[in-house]
Amino acid sequence: MFMRVDKLQAELPAPKRKDPNAAAALQELLGGKYGEMSTLGNYMFQSFNFRSKSKLRPFYSLVAAITAEELGHVELVSNGVAMLNNGPDNDGDEKDGGDISKAPFEDMKDIRLAAAFLSNGGGSAPINSNGVSWNNDFITTTGNLVVDLLHNFHLECGARLHKLRVYETLTDPTGREVCGYLLVRGSVHAHAYALALKKITGVEIEKFLPTPNINLDKIPECQKYLQEGSHRRLYTFSPGDYTEMAGIWGNGEVALPGDPKGELSVVEGMPEGGKIHQLTGVPSAFTPDYAPEEMFEIAAKLTKKAR
Ligand code: MN
Ligand code: MN
Repeated sequence: MFMRVDKLQAELPAPKRKDPNAAAALQELLGGKYGEMSTLGNYMFQSFNFRSKSKLRPFYSLVAAITAEELGHVELVSNGVAMLNNGPDNDGDEKDGGDISKAPFEDMKDIRLAAAFLSNGGGSAPINSNGVSWNNDFITTTGNLVVDLLHNFHLECGARLHKLRVYETLTDPTGREVCGYLLVRGSVHAHAYALALKKITGVEIEKFLPTPNINLDKIPECQKYLQEGSHRRLYTFSPGDYTEMAGIWGNGEVALPGDPKGELSVVEGMPEGGKIHQLTGVPSAFTPDYAPEEMFEIAAKLTKKAR
């Protein structure tokens, strides 16, 4: 089962301005071949299909717990995309439909991912930076534990390369924060799958890391996560399950060379996380002559009755 918490895994700064082209770049980390939809899909189906779950408990726990984290990454990137399309935080919604005869969204016809506005209303979708649909062919679930773990190791290293490239295209703080956080967590996951492979095969595959060869200390947005020790932590994302992965992530294993030193540890539960930002209601982009006040009033009454 999954439980939902109404927070993001990391605190995102508000965008400085609307930047739909930055949002389009960030889409690559959501619906690209190595995006969060792919890591989620891979680990989720591998965990569902896992053979001999009891006998292979530490390995099953690892894949299952990381699945939950990846679902939160899908949520984080999606929020980042919507925030970049929305622009700076503001207190409320636009009041009226505006004068739609003056083409208030004329600029949007020239953005590189026009469907993000025309079809998705400035929200995110499971597509890459060119609007090509994510698809289930990006999922590998062979039923062979070593092959699946090897695939996951490759996937995390590849995802890291893509995150780095997207980071290098962005100047906005929201998009950069998403990349900085995910680069740290991607490093953790690559390391975790490497250690899992080492425990099974005896091959010290973690010596490949970091691949690509970029140390996190070169990226300003990674620094606070390194200082708080995020690079040494895996979360169970569960009230009581999946603690057995500490046999792989822990058990005397330490941080990668180049990162702040320390032992690896499993944390029961989830990170503290950050708030979900409000997105502005824009009548002219949705229902030009409808007064949303009526809906707000109905929702306020229902919220009151729920208490
Ligand atoms: Mn991820
Ligand atoms: Mn990952």
